[in-house]
Amino acid sequence: MSGTEQGRDVPQPRPGDAAHRVICQQVVELLGDYLEGGLDEPVRTDVDAHLESCPECRMFLEQLELTVTLVGELPAPEELDPGTLELLVMTFRDVSGRG
Ligand SMILES: [Zn+2]
Repeated sequence: MSGTEQGRDVPQPRPGDAAHRVICQQVVELLGDYLEGGLDEPVRTDVDAHLESCPECRMFLEQLELTVTLVGELPAPEELDPGTLELLVMTFRDVSGRG
């Protein structure tokens, strides 16, 4: 037996995970304006920074861009209800968890 390093690869929950999810929802809600270039500079930089570090939101942005390409317009904000956002975030987590 030489398994002295067992358990090192176990993913640990980050302390700021709950807060991160709130940030993700806020970012997702801003992505419509982000795509249209309608965000003010400080906010846009904030969203950019979040996208840099958040694969889930980058995937959502790609999905949103794809939707815009297919439908020709952004989905109405009313359609992006919290339940849908929650589902999307969970889906993205599942997808990104494979890597
Ligand atoms: Zn995010």
